[in-house]
Amino acid sequence: AEWAAAVEAVRGLPADARVLLICHVNPDGDALGSMLGFGLGLRRLGVRRLQATFPGPPDVPEPFRWLPGVELLVAQDDAYPDPDLVICFDAAGDSRLGDLVDRLGRAGTSLVLDHHASNTGFGRINLVDPHAAATSVVALGLLDRLGVPLDAEMATGLYVALTTDTGSFRFEATTPAVHEMAARLLATGIRPGDISRRIFDTRPFGAVRLFGEVLGRATLEPAAAAGHGLVWTYATHDDLARHDQPAYVLEALIDSVRCTAEADVSCVVKQSGDAEWAVSLRSKGAVDVSRVAVALGGGGHRFAAGFTGRGPLDEVVGNIRAALGAEVLTPHS
Ligand code: 5GP
Ligand code: MN
Ligand code: MN
Repeated sequence: AEWAAAVEAVRGLPADARVLLICHVNPDGDALGSMLGFGLGLRRLGVRRLQATFPGPPDVPEPFRWLPGVELLVAQDDAYPDPDLVICFDAAGDSRLGDLVDRLGRAGTSLVLDHHASNTGFGRINLVDPHAAATSVVALGLLDRLGVPLDAEMATGLYVALTTDTGSFRFEATTPAVHEMAARLLATGIRPGDISRRIFDTRPFGAVRLFGEVLGRATLEPAAAAGHGLVWTYATHDDLARHDQPAYVLEALIDSVRCTAEADVSCVVKQSGDAEWAVSLRSKGAVDVSRVAVALGGGGHRFAAGFTGRGPLDEVVGNIRAALGAEVLTPHS
């Protein structure tokens, strides 16, 4: 029923309708890739008044600036104030949309495409599949139902989304259906080697040195999480400034930290304001980090979650320790 309503919401648009695509703050490969891939699909359908945006400063992280469809992006302040349709990608709740919640409120109607089990159903129509490996799985499902033929430009964003959220097909979410979707995307002629190198394997030398410093102060707490172990580190604005690096380079840091054999849970605390921290949590399976994140005001998935911490660094880390202690003692339902 939701699929039919979603198809109708797009098909029923008048020719001059304004469509605004939005995604979560600090957009990652799934948020941007799904949004832009889907946006190009809407173009193919003949949607002419079409914009895409995300909350916060309009800077697209360098690794994504080459994505087909970036020309759809506008700064959030320039986005249609009263869109006829808002389509939201990869956001579990409207708290992930910053100031763009007002566009959502003023839109003629709204459509949410997502794959978080914790999704709050904040759209008029909600296409939320917690079994989907990425939001792009849902996005392609809708494009198929709209009858949009897949092309290489659309496929690029959808593939970036799929590789981002499956850890390049390494995570448990990598089902046969994921590989079947990847096969369809690759059959359009996109080049997976180029794409992976650009989004995962390219960073400035300054970021390599910054990682050295930040990884050098990682802390291992084997007793944390009821003996499953916690490894964590942090990065401040000052660290970024000393190495002359933009904040997005820190997104890859968690992937180095989470290799730690002695810890089930890994954590990177990234300064995002005066006394504000963006916290990334990962688990190998013993601990459901989405529950830890939810307890601290955030959300996410079982193996990858996050939240915004407020206060001094030690307090934020102390809260994580405490929530980890409480979580592993709670029997899973
Ligand atoms: P990352 O650590 O890569 O930023 O985020 C991992 C996952 O955690 C994301 O896919 C997202 O679902 C969730 N997440 C990260 N930060 C937040 C947050 O501040 N609030 C909520 N609700 N979810 C978050
Ligand atoms: Mn995301
Ligand atoms: Mn996602």
